[in-house]
Amino acid sequence: MPVCKNCRNKWTWTQSVMKQFTLRNGMICDYCKERQYLSSKSRYKNSILTALIAILLIVTISLFNLAIFPIFILIAMGVLLTLIITPFTMELYEQYPVIIQSSIVE
Ligand SMILES: [Zn+2]
Repeated sequence: MPVCKNCRNKWTWTQSVMKQFTLRNGMICDYCKERQYLSSKSRYKNSILTALIAILLIVTISLFNLAIFPIFILIAMGVLLTLIITPFTMELYEQYPVIIQSSIVE
C-alpha cells in the first residue's frame, strides 16, 4: 500500500482505490492534507498492468468467439481487476514527476 512521503502514514486499500477517481493532478493525503503524486515508477507499473490485462482480455475474447454481452462483462471485470490491483503498485511522491526530454542536436 502507498505511504505518504510527507507524514509517513500508510494509506488503506480503500483510500488508495478512492484516490484513483480524483480528476485533478495529485491526490490529497487524508492524514496530513498534503498533495501526493504517483511516482514515475508507479505510473510505469500501472501501464504494464493495464496492458497485460488488456492483452489477456483480447486473447480471451478472440479465443472463445463470445457474444457482445459476455464481452462487456469481461471488460468490466478487467477494469475492476485493474482497480483492485493498482493500490499494491502505488508509490507516492511529493512533487509531480518531471519527464526529462533529451533534445536532438543536429
Ligand atoms: Zn500524509
